[in-house]
Amino acid sequence: MSAQPDTTPAAAPSTTPEPGTPHRVVIIGSGFGGLFATKALDAPGVAVTMLGRTSHHLFQPLLYQVATGILSEGVIAPTTRDVLARQANASVLLGEVTEIDLTARQVTATAVGQATTYSYDSLIVAAGADQSWFGNDSFAEFAPGMKTIDDALELRGRIYGAFEMAEVAAASGRDEVIDRLLTFVVVGAGPTGVEMAGQLAELSKRTLAREFRHIDPSRARIVLLDAADTVLTSFGPRLSERTARDLTKLGIEVRLGAKVVDVDAEGLVVEERDGSQERIEATTKVWAAGVQANPLTRQLAAQTGATLDRSGRISVNPDLSLPGHPEVYAVGDLTAIDGVPGVAQGAIQGGRHAADQILRRLRGEETGQPFRYFDKGSMATISRFRAVMKRDKIELTGYPAWVAWLAVHLFYIIGFKSQIQTLMHWAVSFVGQDRSERTVTEQQVLARLALEYLGEDFLRTSLRKVPGAQPDPAPETMTPGSAP
Ligand SMILES: Cc1cc2nc3c(=O)[nH]c(=O)nc-3n(C[C@H](O)[C@H](O)[C@H](O)COP(=O)(O)OP(=O)(O)OC[C@H]3O[C@@H](n4cnc5c(N)ncnc54)[C@H](O)[C@@H]3O)c2cc1C
Repeated sequence: MSAQPDTTPAAAPSTTPEPGTPHRVVIIGSGFGGLFATKALDAPGVAVTMLGRTSHHLFQPLLYQVATGILSEGVIAPTTRDVLARQANASVLLGEVTEIDLTARQVTATAVGQATTYSYDSLIVAAGADQSWFGNDSFAEFAPGMKTIDDALELRGRIYGAFEMAEVAAASGRDEVIDRLLTFVVVGAGPTGVEMAGQLAELSKRTLAREFRHIDPSRARIVLLDAADTVLTSFGPRLSERTARDLTKLGIEVRLGAKVVDVDAEGLVVEERDGSQERIEATTKVWAAGVQANPLTRQLAAQTGATLDRSGRISVNPDLSLPGHPEVYAVGDLTAIDGVPGVAQGAIQGGRHAADQILRRLRGEETGQPFRYFDKGSMATISRFRAVMKRDKIELTGYPAWVAWLAVHLFYIIGFKSQIQTLMHWAVSFVGQDRSERTVTEQQVLARLALEYLGEDFLRTSLRKVPGAQPDPAPETMTPGSAP
């Protein structure tokens, strides 16, 4: 059932549709919350429109494997359209939501310069979170985050590019720049930072070890920094200490209580607890610290009176609806709920709960049941054959935790095709020592910054050259799910 143009004004808000008219659910975001909510809404009498900023569903936990050349981007980011192909009541539309009007029950989304307004009966906002540089957005230029496929590909280009540049420098006798080129700093010692640092160590010591003629890649210096005093703090002291030990054994410098106070093209400055500062010369920096909820939460808060926390996450009612709007739910990383961490399971379970509330209302059943999060545990890999895992009081380390990590991640990757491909890529990297996805291009590395430097005017002008794009049109109004 696809969305059809509707030039009439939005229908009066109602959660009880006219007989024969499907209940229109708009879902913002094709991540874990959005996708699992959509799947849970596969029911008669419901028409779901999923609006996504990208046309894919991204399995963020494996982004670092794309960045380090183990997996291809297609494996962890299947198109949402493909994933939902068999769900006839789900329509997938590309668009970045820029405006939510809770009174009119409409959202406006822009795709390739074209703004479109969609009316809904129920709304699920699952737009996730973005990277945060803790108020120092200028750091992003030189220390990219890792939240999107673009980020991962840019990092892949920067990482492999640094080895290439070091080889060229060594071949041409410019030895003074080699140490800087072969120093990699990962900021943030949570699961993402630990996994990234571990892979950089494996890459330099195993994968690239015999391929260069002028440099020794295994000499690469890998530094993992965090302002906190422990790595993997949320895993508790035992696993945290074990991880720090394992990282050190891999040759990674773990520097804790060290806050990054400046970043530039050639390095960064860290401040220790005693206030002393040190500069680390490093061409490649990876920012794996901090998230900021999607800015749409500000609009929702302004219209409902819900509060935002320091990371911009919105408070919700116990059933995940927004104050005064039982037809609007917020789920996943953009919500602040006590005891629910910003992990995939929080979003998956939240998305399913919101969908369940909508279906209950449509069946005339009681609603308002509080969302109960079931903690399935946390895990992080350190390197090949080493991981840590925690579930309640059960703590696993080493090989058993690594096997559990493989199994869980394989299970949650969306689609059989992706699962098979992932297994094959893992065999190449973990049984052998190669990586099958090492292609990098100049555009991967430069495109983000080029677009930022060129600015909005460039985007508007270039959109005119894209077939079908309309850079400055008036918004069109669509009624998702209406009968053709
Ligand atoms: C590098 C990394 C590693 C991680 N590792 C783990 C892990 O090992 N285990 C774990 O459980 N969790 C992990 N997480 C966290 C987990 O991925 C998130 O908690 C989860 O993705 C949250 O789901 P969500 O649906 O709230 O948001 P997301 O999955 O981020 O989805 C948000 C969606 O909204 C879309 N969107 C955003 N803004 C708009 C807009 N304005 N209009 C339309 N669409 C929009 C985005 O494109 C995206 O599709 C990791 C996260 C990262 C970044």
